[in-house]
Formats: sequence, structure tokens, C-alpha cells
Amino acid sequence: KDYSFEDQSQDYKPSADFYKVEAVLRPWRLSPVSSALLKMGIRGVTVTDVRGFGAQGGSRERQAGTEFAGDSFLQKVKLEIVVSKEQVDAVIDTIIDQARTGEIGDGKIFVSPVADIIRIRTGERGLQAERMAGGRAAMQVTVEGSDGN
Ligand code: ATP
Ligand code: GLN
Repeated sequence: KDYSFEDQSQDYKPSADFYKVEAVLRPWRLSPVSSALLKMGIRGVTVTDVRGFGAQGGSRERQAGTEFAGDSFLQKVKLEIVVSKEQVDAVIDTIIDQARTGEIGDGKIFVSPVADIIRIRTGERGLQAERMAGGRAAMQVTVEGSDGN
């Protein structure tokens, strides 16, 4: 692979060139998370409104006198971000930084391999389809280029 920057990523299994990072988050953390992702050069993100049930047990935010209802799924948002392998850890770190409150219900992140990426407009596949104008890879090449000169 001729990536122009170091591969610092973990050895995710099964091994693939691309991974989907799926994060289930509190809706009110979406804006800080997406701003931080944009800032680091992540351009392709899909967001879905979902409802979920975890350790939080479908209860409201836990506080004294809280209302418990076993059948109520909580409103969450799901972010899906497909990135090349060496960008996975940075994406995960950013999501945790911005989404974590330390309370039950902060959410969870799932990482899974992606076999291929196809840009519909151009028919590009693989790394060409994954790279985006002004994306993270482009930003890092620029930084390295100016460091070297
Ligand atoms: P084009 O250059 O043809 O506009 P593009 O690569 O910029 O292609 P879009 O067609 O703008 O991609 O993407 C359409 C939708 O696909 C986005 O709104 C987003 O929901 C989703 N998407 C694109 N790239 C990714 C990605 N890497 N991860 C997750 N979702 C993505
Ligand atoms: N990895 C892509 C890039 O560096 C960005 C992918 C994404 O935004 N999901 O251009």
C-alpha cells in the first residue's frame, strides 16, 4: 500500500483495507462529535435516528426519582463512518472524546470490515472511492509536505 503516512492502526480482525465505525450516541452529543470529525478531515458520515436499549435499560437519564419504564427504547443517533484502516483509531478517539460523559448511556462503538467502496458518480472503487476532496488523507499529506520543506 502506498499510504503517504504511517500506519498506526491496531490489527483489527478480520483484516481489511476499510472499516466501518458505527457509533450509537446520545442525540445531544451528535453536534460536537460531527464538528470534531469534520475538523479532522472526515467528510463522509451517515447519521440515522435510532432507538436503543442497553445497560441504561430504557430508563431516562439516571437521577433521583427517575422514571423507569422497561419497554421504552431511548432515542439515540447512529453514526456510520467508513474509513481506511489507518484512520480508524483516530475516528474512535475523536468520538469518545466528544461523546463521553461518564454516565450510563454514553453509547457504544462497533468496528467491522468493509469489503469495497464504490463511488456511484465515477465508478471508482477501493481507496480512490474512499478518499474525499479535502479529506483527512489530503490534510495529512499537506502537513507532512510543509513540515519537510
Ligand atoms: P461525489 O463526489 O459523487 O459527490 P462523494 O464521495 O462525495 O461522491 P456523496 O455522493 O456525496 O459521496 O455521498 C452520499 C452519502 O453517502 C453521504 O451523504 C453520506 O451519507 C454517505 N457517505 C459517503 N461517504 C461515506 C463514508 N465514507 N462513510 C459513511 N457514509 C458515507
Ligand atoms: N478517509 C477519507 C479521506 O481521507 C475520508 C473518509 C471519510 O470522510 N469517511 O479522504
